Formats: sequence, structure tokens, C-alpha cells
Amino acid sequence: MARGFLDRVKLNTPVTTIQTAKECVCATVEDGGKYCGDYAITTFSIGVLQAAIREEEDAVHFEPPLPAAKQNAINSVTVVHYTKISLIFNTTFWNETDEDQQIIHYASNERGDYPHFTLDKNSPNTILVEVTEDLAIKVDNQPVSTTVEEVMVILRKIYGNDIPEPQNAVVSNWSNDPFVRCSWTVFDVGVPEDIVDQLLSPVHKLYFAGDSLNRTQYGYVHGAYGSGADIAHKITSEIKKSSSAATTSGILKGTVIMTVLLSALVI
Ligand SMILES: Cc1cc2nc3c(=O)[nH]c(=O)nc-3n(C[C@H](O)[C@H](O)[C@H](O)COP(=O)(O)OP(=O)(O)OC[C@H]3O[C@@H](n4cnc5c(N)ncnc54)[C@H](O)[C@@H]3O)c2cc1C
Repeated sequence: MARGFLDRVKLNTPVTTIQTAKECVCATVEDGGKYCGDYAITTFSIGVLQAAIREEEDAVHFEPPLPAAKQNAINSVTVVHYTKISLIFNTTFWNETDEDQQIIHYASNERGDYPHFTLDKNSPNTILVEVTEDLAIKVDNQPVSTTVEEVMVILRKIYGNDIPEPQNAVVSNWSNDPFVRCSWTVFDVGVPEDIVDQLLSPVHKLYFAGDSLNRTQYGYVHGAYGSGADIAHKITSEIKKSSSAATTSGILKGTVIMTVLLSALVI
């Protein structure tokens, strides 16, 4: 997709500030570079936008702050926390079956016990543990060693005391990742129907896209792609309209599109 302008894609270039004005949008990046365009699209997640509104220390900074209606719309979306914990052992101690994947549910009387384990033949000797919301936030904010100890308590209840300790453990920790901040979003019951209109509404010439802003393909990669494509078409037709108006009045206006997406800045 980026063939033809790959030389203008900036990877690993975190945006620190976005300035919006009537005529243009500018993005300042971590090394101090500044990129300005007549239009911009941001695909920051709702979690990233909410952190910006809270003015968290490592959050992107909007100058001026996003308008109140926009802030209310962003804050009225509920972000969901979800954490994946992979425990890697030196052996497979569970019973293998003919199935590629086994799912084990642990039904505890205690809220907060690890409930969901996936054993997948494509990831040998590995147990994937998935947790959401309060437990995900707790796991993301405690040492990995504590999480491993807690998970092992449950695994010993299921498989007995003789199982080995894991050799390695990886925790996704998306809720603390400043570029992610959550896993997905939901619109709670009672949220006004025009919320997506508010989320989509541009701030001057800064446009918003992303998986949460697609009315029909909400929450998926193809929804994110479609939302970005819709906004890009909207901007190109605006450019065409303003160019033809400028041509008839004798002024030709050069237009640059600056896009912020997928950790990349296209200038
Ligand atoms: C566990 C999990 C499993 C999923 N499985 C599927 C699946 O099987 N199929 C499917 O279709 N969808 C799946 N999804 C959903 C899919 O991942 C999302 O819908 C999609 O990634 C959203 O794309 P996006 O571009 O809107 O946002 P994101 O993917 O969040 O992209 C936003 C980008 O902005 C960048 N960014 C943030 N802040 C800055 C900054 N300050 N400067 C520069 N860049 C920044 C981020 O690094 C990120 O790359 C899954 C999601 C999760 C969490």
C-alpha cells in the first residue's frame, strides 16, 4: 500500500505534540522535528486520546487542547483492558489430544483467580493465560514474577504439585504501553447515538480515524483500514473542491497531506 511513498514514511518516530490551526496541522516528534501539512489524519487509539485529555506525562499533547465536545465524545467510550500472559516451560506436562488447541477453564470460588488457559500445539511447551479488566490491570502493574507465582498456584491445582516452573514468562502489558493504553473499546448502553459523528468530526483540518470510528466494521483490522480510507477520500475530495475553487479564482494552492498512523508519519 505504501509503495510509491515509502521514502517518506517515518518509522519509530513518536509524535509528542499536535498543533491544530485553521490553515494547517503540525506534528512535533520526539527528536524535535516538526512536520506540517494542510491536513492530517490521526489513528491514535481511544486509550491514547483519553490519556492525552488527562494530560498524562508521557501522553501526546494537543495544542490547543481538543474542544470540549470532542473530549466528551472520546471520554464517553469505554476502554477495555486485556492482558496475555505466556508461560514457557521446558516440557509439555499436560495431556496432548488430537486437537491442535485445548482450552482449560478454571472455575474458582474466588473472584480474581486466573480463569482461562490455552494450550496450542503451534506454541509448544507454552501456556497462554488471558485475563481482562481488573485482573488485567493488576497483572500489568505487578512484577511478572508475582504473576507467575499466582498462575502457578492455579496450575498446580489443575495439574498437581509436580509440574515444573516456567523457564520464561511474557506479559503483554498493553494498558501501560503509551502507544496502546487499552486493548479495545466498547460503547456502553445509553451512550448517545451520534457519538461516532462526534468522534469523527475534524478539529480544523485534523481528521480522526481508526477501528473504533468505523460504524459497521467496528473493532477489526479491516474496520481500521476502511475508516482510514474513508477519511483519506473525504480529504482528497475536499482538496479537489478547494483546488478547483482556487483555480477559478486564479490562485493555485499546493496541498500536502500529513498522516499519523501505525507508529509512522507519512509526510
Ligand atoms: C488481543 C487482540 C486481538 C485482536 N485480534 C484481531 C483479529 O484477529 N482480527 C482483527 O481484524 N482484529 C483484531 N484485533 C483488533 C485490531 O488489532 C484493531 O482493530 C486494529 O489494530 C486497530 O487498528 P488502528 O490502526 O485503528 O489502531 P492501532 O492498531 O492501535 O494503531 C494505532 C497506532 O498509533 C501508534 N501511536 C500511538 N501513539 C503514537 C504516538 N504518540 N506517535 C506515533 N504513533 C503513535 C501506535 O503505535 C499504533 O501503531 C485484535 C485486537 C487485540 C487487542
